[in-house]
Amino acid sequence: MDTTSAPPPDGSGPRPLTGRTALVTGAASGIGRACAVALAAAGARVYVVDIAAEAAKAVAEETGGTAHVVDLSDPAAVDALPADADIVVNNAGLQHVAPVHEFPPDRFTLIQRVMVEAPFRIMRRTLPHMYAQEWGRIVNISSVHGLRASPYKSAYVTAKHALEGLSKTVALEAAPYGVTSNCINPGYVRTPLVENQVAAQALAHGIGEDEVVEQIMLERTAIKRLIEPSEVAEAALWLCSPHASYVTGSSLPLDGGWTAH
Ligand code: NAD
Repeated sequence: MDTTSAPPPDGSGPRPLTGRTALVTGAASGIGRACAVALAAAGARVYVVDIAAEAAKAVAEETGGTAHVVDLSDPAAVDALPADADIVVNNAGLQHVAPVHEFPPDRFTLIQRVMVEAPFRIMRRTLPHMYAQEWGRIVNISSVHGLRASPYKSAYVTAKHALEGLSKTVALEAAPYGVTSNCINPGYVRTPLVENQVAAQALAHGIGEDEVVEQIMLERTAIKRLIEPSEVAEAALWLCSPHASYVTGSSLPLDGGWTAH
């Protein structure tokens, strides 16, 4: 057996992202938190960016990173974030559900600011650092809604489709500099946001929580379960690995078969 290349089973071997710095937005909760934890476990120093101060500080403490308490809808605050990240995970997001003719314009604008303009501003600030060192990774947490629409989610679907276009454009510009840009497209993820929706819908419909997940949320997926935040984080980690250095401009569905329809 060749023991020279196998890392020690106790996890004490060299960590693949040692020396790298990762900026993760929305890192105080859900998928962002899972990405911060996974990147830190792989050796990266993490900038934990979120509007939720206490939760961001807790994740920073947990990961040995730094909390940056920022409202990503504020362009000046976004432009004051560190520019020396080697890895950027654009993850922060929010949802608003209403038909277009009743959709509040200020919510529409807020969602584009947080989910499209902030990623653009963060990328335009961090790419020069990545270009100079000829290595960088942009991971955009899109959604199945970056590839498919659903009724009543106009701002969210618009923002995620825009993020897909931004990600692909950056992939083309950044390739000569050793920088990749990709999207991850999860279906419903077991985050606090979704768990609250499940409980609320179970009450509203008078059915069990399992039935809400299976009959309503997972109607279009072939695999009838929610995906865990850690599974999304593992995909983000893989996109930062040498094995994924030829993967750019792509959109990776983690959607249990939703987009196979
Ligand atoms: P979450 O609500 O658990 O976490 C989102 C984080 O973003 C929160 O910590 C929140 O404070 C932060 N945030 C929101 N607005 C902000 C602002 N203005 N400034 C700074 N931080 C802000 O959500 P999640 O489910 O982990 O979602 C994370 C990302 O994954 C989002 O982009 C979402 O669209 C995407 N996504 C989620 C699902 C799902 O089912 N949960 C599915 C596909 C894609």
